[in-house]
Amino acid sequence: MRVYLHTFGCKANQYDTEAVRQALEASGATPVGDPALADAAIVNSCTVTHVAEAKMRGLVRRLARQRPALRTVVMGCAAALDDGAIARLPGVEAVVGGAEPSRVLAALGLSAPNAGELLRSFARGSRAWLKIQDGCDEHCTFCATTLARGANRSRPVDDLVAEAGLLAEQHEEIVLTGVHIGSYGRDGDGGMTLGRLVEELVRQVPRVRFRLSSVEATEVDPSLAELMIGEPLRLAPHLHAPLQSGSDRLLKRMGRHWYTARAYRDRIEWLAERLPRLGLGADVIVGFPGETARDHAATMELVSALPFTYLHVFPYSERPGASARRLGRPVDPPVAAARSAELRDLAASHRQRYQANRDGGPADVVLMARQAARFQGLTEDYLTVYLPADRARPPRLPATLRRRGGVLLAEAA
Ligand code: SF4
Repeated sequence: MRVYLHTFGCKANQYDTEAVRQALEASGATPVGDPALADAAIVNSCTVTHVAEAKMRGLVRRLARQRPALRTVVMGCAAALDDGAIARLPGVEAVVGGAEPSRVLAALGLSAPNAGELLRSFARGSRAWLKIQDGCDEHCTFCATTLARGANRSRPVDDLVAEAGLLAEQHEEIVLTGVHIGSYGRDGDGGMTLGRLVEELVRQVPRVRFRLSSVEATEVDPSLAELMIGEPLRLAPHLHAPLQSGSDRLLKRMGRHWYTARAYRDRIEWLAERLPRLGLGADVIVGFPGETARDHAATMELVSALPFTYLHVFPYSERPGASARRLGRPVDPPVAAARSAELRDLAASHRQRYQANRDGGPADVVLMARQAARFQGLTEDYLTVYLPADRARPPRLPATLRRRGGVLLAEAA
């Protein structure tokens, strides 16, 4: 059987698809990159925003139009919360909530002889994701992911060290991902934490660069900070720390009880003072029900004060089952759009300033892709850079950054 795989959403979803891909190959099926060549399709769905779900439904309909005989299985987060609407889409043979490979394959009449086997590689270039935990014990009022993925479940340290070892044979960078990675180990009684896990990975899996995917600022404990400060070639000095709002009033309405704007600011400033280079990003929601101009001003003030190098700005999206629906109407779209634009402009000026400061500085570059006459690479502090493809290059190399016309070039050292 030839199977087309498509993933919507986050790194945890992309990891889950890779686990399904590996199980498909072990079952004798053949993953194909083109649906025109496929007998079946597996679509890994996302429920973070209504846009993500609409795109998934659009793809499923397109597949059914182009290949009426195609058997489609929809898995993942939106599938987990499906009220029957996905099951009624054309060509959908099964809706499988979550991402258990054996359940997904069974929906196509296949069995997974390698169920639970460690992931050996990622069907993508030099970077791989490692899912360290799933689920979340929090209940942010705007979030459907916690509803779709359930409670926090940490994977055993030994499995993660072994899997990272396998991935390190194929990849230069391993990104630690999940749904709420800062809660790693909290479901166990061994006193394990994200910081202790990363220490173990760096100690037992040599050479490879680890990177944290999204992590709450106040969950960056001292051991993590020390690794970023002391070993930036082993743990990338990059934080994607969801902020969502700079207003404590709004953080309360969002159910984000574990930090205040002050606590967030203190942790980031503490880290930024100790790191010569820091890639710093955040998610911010605009237009949340009840958001006032004053709340927005607090967010603008905090974003201006902190050394962000990029920002993901999301307009509030009402989600099925999420309690924010009971908090009143979202902010009028034109107002939300204007506020989003202000934040994006602010983020762009931060990015320009940071890139200008990096001009002439050293970088640890992992090559990600080749584009015509140049390679695209990623630095330790999460900057996209380019090198001429005029000769073969090692997958990871030290370089000096040169800023030319708003683009960062990497000159091999
Ligand atoms: S921390 Fe909040 S936003 Fe993140 S997964 Fe948990 S409930 Fe959702």
